[in-house]
Amino acid sequence: MNTAKPFKLIDRFNRHVDYVRLSVTDRCDFQCVYCMTDDMTFVHRSKVLTLEEMGQIAAAFVELGVSKIRLTGGEPLIRSNVMSLVEHIGQLSGLKELTLTSNASQLQKYAMALKAAGVKRINISLDSLDGERFHQITRTGRLEQVLSGIDAAIAAGFERIKLNTVILKGRNDDEILDLTRFAMEKGLDICFIEEMPLGAINEHSRSLSFFSSDEVKAVLDSAFTLQETAVQTNGPSRYYDVLGTKNRVGFISPHSHNFCSSCNRVRVTAEGRLLLCLGNEYSVDLRQVVREFPHDKKRLQQAIIDAMDLKPERHHFDVEDDGVQIVRFMNMTGG
Ligand code: SAM
Ligand code: SF4
Repeated sequence: MNTAKPFKLIDRFNRHVDYVRLSVTDRCDFQCVYCMTDDMTFVHRSKVLTLEEMGQIAAAFVELGVSKIRLTGGEPLIRSNVMSLVEHIGQLSGLKELTLTSNASQLQKYAMALKAAGVKRINISLDSLDGERFHQITRTGRLEQVLSGIDAAIAAGFERIKLNTVILKGRNDDEILDLTRFAMEKGLDICFIEEMPLGAINEHSRSLSFFSSDEVKAVLDSAFTLQETAVQTNGPSRYYDVLGTKNRVGFISPHSHNFCSSCNRVRVTAEGRLLLCLGNEYSVDLRQVVREFPHDKKRLQQAIIDAMDLKPERHHFDVEDDGVQIVRFMNMTGG
């Protein structure tokens, strides 16, 4: 009988890291105005982890006690053969939850297969219900395609589907109630995200567009009764039950609410950088380890264990003066 205690990744501040966000690609079929510039350069393909390397890294984390993996990007579903990775991770023993963040453009094609491969929950980005405006915000996106993707996800029967909405002042703040009603009618949760200063953009001023979670909540309070829930995410989100519905409204407020003391997550970029914090540059190059020492599981796991010492106590975001502190764009980081 194996009596060894299960391994735990613990950092210097005694936080237990059990959640990894894995960016499958930095590329995307959309170019949302808060996420990318219109002339982005993407990582050269040779520098992006292969799906097999990603699978090895995921397996190493799960053996080290990670119980939840979220696949993200860029747009994870535009990577060719992505289902082979989803299926591999879905079968890792010890993993309790496999989730995905997507812009829904490819969900008509993949929703059923994702569910069959073990994906439990999906987060879908949706910032507008007006086709013209949706196209302006995403630069390339077609609303009908995304709405069909959402319907396909609902039909596939995931445990929970959550819409992610970034509200920009003067851009889509007049749609807060419509987007929430849409979510409730479809039986989905909705989470409002404050724009974060990740990457230098010139399409708009991040400080002038900033619309706080408290402002969103004030709008919602005019039409819904929100009751705070006990749902604990260890992240920047707070959730409320919407009275009279089975759904929740959430707020991701990296500016207004500090959540670092309970942070349980790390991120792996598409090029294999293990990022210890969304708001700092501390990282470890896991690609170098998997390429220099292929299939050396012990070495890869030791690199991950050692990296825990680099996890900083807290992040520092500040959009007051549009000063960009984080050079990474969100598509690099993995949202
Ligand atoms: N492409 C997928 C999507 O859009 O859902 C997954 C990756 S995307 C980077 C993940 C989330 O990050 C999306 O919900 C998006 O709205 C959010 N996001 C991107 N850039 C952001 C920024 N600068 N501030 C806040 N949220 C951002
Ligand atoms: Fe693509 Fe998602 Fe970034 Fe929009 S937010 S550009 S959909 S990665």
